[in-house]
Order: sequence, then structure tokens, then C-alpha cells
Amino acid sequence: MFYVKVPDKKECSFNGGIKNINEGNLFYIPLVVGKDTNVTTLVKKGDFVSQGQKIANTKGDFKTNVISSITGEVLGFEEKTYLTNEKVRCVLIKKTEEDKTFEKTDKKISDMSKQDFLDKLKESGLVGLSGAAFPTYYKYSTEKQINTLIVNAVECESYITADQKILLTKIEEILEATDAILEIFDIPEAIIVIKSKNKKLKDAIEDFVGTYLKIRVEFVSDHYTMGYEKNIIKEVKNITYEKYPLEKGIVVNNVSTIYAIYEVLKLNKPLFERMITVTGDGIKEPTNFVVKTGMLFKDIVDQLSGYTSDNITIVAGGPMMGESISNDDLVMSPNLNNILVLKDFKQEEKTSCLRCGKCMSYCTAEISPVLIKDALEDVNKLKELRPDKCVECGLCSYICPAKIPIREYVREAKKEIGGS
Ligand code: SF4
Ligand code: SF4
Repeated sequence: MFYVKVPDKKECSFNGGIKNINEGNLFYIPLVVGKDTNVTTLVKKGDFVSQGQKIANTKGDFKTNVISSITGEVLGFEEKTYLTNEKVRCVLIKKTEEDKTFEKTDKKISDMSKQDFLDKLKESGLVGLSGAAFPTYYKYSTEKQINTLIVNAVECESYITADQKILLTKIEEILEATDAILEIFDIPEAIIVIKSKNKKLKDAIEDFVGTYLKIRVEFVSDHYTMGYEKNIIKEVKNITYEKYPLEKGIVVNNVSTIYAIYEVLKLNKPLFERMITVTGDGIKEPTNFVVKTGMLFKDIVDQLSGYTSDNITIVAGGPMMGESISNDDLVMSPNLNNILVLKDFKQEEKTSCLRCGKCMSYCTAEISPVLIKDALEDVNKLKELRPDKCVECGLCSYICPAKIPIREYVREAKKEIGGS
């Protein structure tokens, strides 16, 4: 396995502080969780919904809820652009009342039973906030003894700083939630993992973590794809696994997800907002801010002083894993951690495959992207090549000297064999 040093480019959004955004009063709550649009809608036009209310739920194996981010009236249903660059059906809600206040409970989170923890997380619509939107309660729904909780704050993609901001501004809450999870599930240790070169974060965490005897901080190198959970676990525990970390008694949560767990358990606040980074040389004021599910990017752009050029490219997500978006009618969702705006971006011209094998040597999932591309017409061969293991990190496309967008072929192959 090889890692790659990618340009950092984090300073532009990190130095911008955390901005307050005027939210407007129309919200389009996407009826989707991750890539799962198979949901039952629980509201209809004319209904009154309150902030934090569930308005839909998924039907598949990994059940979870879609939550209203505001209190108001359902005006109907409209399609908006989702982070996959596909249109998704949204519930259009007009905000009619101010936000609720979510007060801290006096109860210690750690006094909660395992079942209460799981029920609350399930009801809150909490999903992993780093991209895949896997329901968080599911990782803890196990009879197996968990022996390590890993809090992933590596954020190895260029440009993105939302996790760093959460860690710097909410460290006490993150530690409280982490410690409570250790108590509730009788887990002996938690490891917060950050990049070794990040001195600001290192100092901020170490000032607080000393009082938590079961929590420690580990540093990993500043390479892509170090934030992928298989790589973190290998690095800090020297352990490998086949499919899920839980096979080896390990649960990994992204640091923003841990903060969201705190909000669910301590404030009784379901998941309806998150920290997001908007960055790149195509936006005048790169920054981080807290955004509610259902806002549209086009309603935010002017508040960041607008675009720097008429020729911009919008990417939902980071430069490696993100998806190019055709317009700024992009709807905010819990799994959208970054919007990258690039000016005068030119796709490098591709040539024929050089058969150099680099995409195979560097592949994070240890599969063979070029062979998968070659086998696209042969489903049986494809199944053997396991494109379903691809984590869509984009490293193969990045490393390819012929500039072939090889990840897109692997994605196509995934669909071909029935993966998502
Ligand atoms: S995008 Fe998929 S195929 Fe390409 S390097 Fe990442 S895991 Fe491997
Ligand atoms: S890295 Fe690019 S050029 Fe090299 S084998 Fe893979 S697809 Fe071909």
C-alpha cells in the first residue's frame, strides 16, 4: 500500500473563522439518506412540522429517519440537486417560527443504558457525517465486546477544515461524549487520531485530554488516504480486517459525528445541522459555518461575497472524493462536509492507458482499477475483481499518469454488479 502527499490547501478556509449565515425561510429537506432514496414520506402538503420532527424514514435494512431542520408549513415537494449531482425529491417547508432552544439535560450521558443510547441515536436520524451517511446507531448494535473506539479527526482530503473547526471549538463536548460511550459500552480505550503536523489541534486537545484516563491522542502522517478507517486502524493498532472494523472489536466514528452524538444525547437535539467548509479559489470568502439541512448553496454564495469568476466549477465534497455539480441549486444534507469552488478549472487531457499499474499499486481498497475498467462488459469477471470494495477515494484517478478518470469506471462496475 502506498500513500500520496496531496497539496494541503486548508489554510484558506481555516483562517476564515466560523461565519454566521442568514438562513432565509424556505428549506428543501432531501428525501434521501446517503444514496438511499427508498423512503416513506410521513408528511403532506399543508402539514405543520416542528424542528427536529421526523418527516420520512428509510425502508431498507439500515433504518433511519429524515429530520425537519425548521418549524413551519409543508408547501409541497420539489426536486433539487443532491451531492451526487442527481436530482432528489425534497420536502419544501416554509419556516414560520424561530428555532427551538435545546437545553442541556442535567443527567450524565454515561448513566444511559445501551438500549436508550441506540434508541435515541436511531430516532435522531444520526448518520456518519464524513460522507457515506451510514446510520450511527448501527455501528453500536452488536452483542460483541467493543475494545477500542477510534475518533477519526484526520480529515486527509485537501481544503476541508470542518472537522478541525469542530475539534477546536467543541473539544470539551467531544471528550464528554467519547468518555460516555466508553462507559455505556464498557470499552477500555478511545483514541483520537489527528495528523502529526497539526500543532494547533495537538495543543488544543492535549490541554483537555489529560483528565480522561481512557482517552489518548495518536498522530498519523499527513498523507492521502490516511483518514480511511482501514488505514487508521492499521497505523494506530496494527490490526487489519476484512469488511468492518467491528470484526476486530473496533468502532470508528468521525469527530463531527461524535459531536453530533453529544447533541443528541445531551441536548436532545436530532441531526438537522452540521459544520461545513466552503472553499477554493472560486469563492471570495472561503470559510466554515453551521448549516441546516435543506438550505440551497445558491442562497449562501452571496453571503460569502460571491464567486471570483464567471467560470467556476462546483464540487460537492473534497477534490479527491467529491462530485462535480452542474449548478448551485445544490441542497445541504447531513453528509455534505465541503463545497469546493474552483475558478477556470481545466480537466487535464487524458491519453491512452500506459499499463503502468500505478492505479493497482496505490488503490486504497487493494483492488485493480485498470483490470476492472477492461472487464466492464464481462459481469462474471467483474464480480471476481470486487469493484464493490472501492471506497471511492479517487486516488487511482489522481495518480494515473494518463489522466484517465479511472474511479468513474470502477463506480460503473460497482453498479454493474449490483453494488451502490
Ligand atoms: S477510488 Fe476505488 S478503485 Fe480508485 S483507488 Fe480509491 S478505492 Fe481504489
Ligand atoms: S494508472 Fe492509469 S495509465 Fe497506469 S495502468 Fe492505471 S489506468 Fe493505466
